[in-house]
Amino acid sequence: MTEQLQRIHDKIRTIPDFPKPGIQFKDFTPLLANSGTLVLTSKLLAEPYKNQNVDFVAGLESRGFLFGLRLAQDLNAGFIPVRKPNKLPADTVSHKYELEYGTDTLEIHADAVDKGANVLIHDDLIATGGTAKACAELIEKLGGNIIGFSFIMQIDSLNGYKSLNESYLCSTLLSV
Ligand code: AMP
Repeated sequence: MTEQLQRIHDKIRTIPDFPKPGIQFKDFTPLLANSGTLVLTSKLLAEPYKNQNVDFVAGLESRGFLFGLRLAQDLNAGFIPVRKPNKLPADTVSHKYELEYGTDTLEIHADAVDKGANVLIHDDLIATGGTAKACAELIEKLGGNIIGFSFIMQIDSLNGYKSLNESYLCSTLLSV
């Protein structure tokens, strides 16, 4: 691991049994609170996509909003919030997806993505990959062209990348 990634890694803490027993929650609020790692994380997230003609960064509620907006600014792209149901005020398109137990739904404004626009999806963490995959399907419903996925962390043991289409670019700063 490079010295820069080690600095980011050292600002992520694991909270056992949050929000429910058995979950090892990866909390990156210490990374946000430190001005050095805040700027460094933004810089490293943007690097793989500098020459990819990204039109929009779609950030997943809610932790995906934090660096997603900055990533959009750094790539001269627009930002699109992808939200939980009934949060967005205008007409929406929704996508229901399977969880290990039950289902969940993501929503996006129906006019958020121009047809054929290049979209980069960002979230803080990929676990099983179900959320990121559902987001890609939602954006494709609107005619967007997925460029790739950007995460700060991946949970190695869950191998979430396998649920994402191999033709997309995927980047993660750290395995946790
Ligand atoms: P998944 O759909 O399984 O890839 O889960 C990814 C989503 O759940 C992301 O929005 C993460 O913020 C959140 N998430 C899943 N597992 C964790 C974890 N161990 N720590 C923090 N966030 C998590």
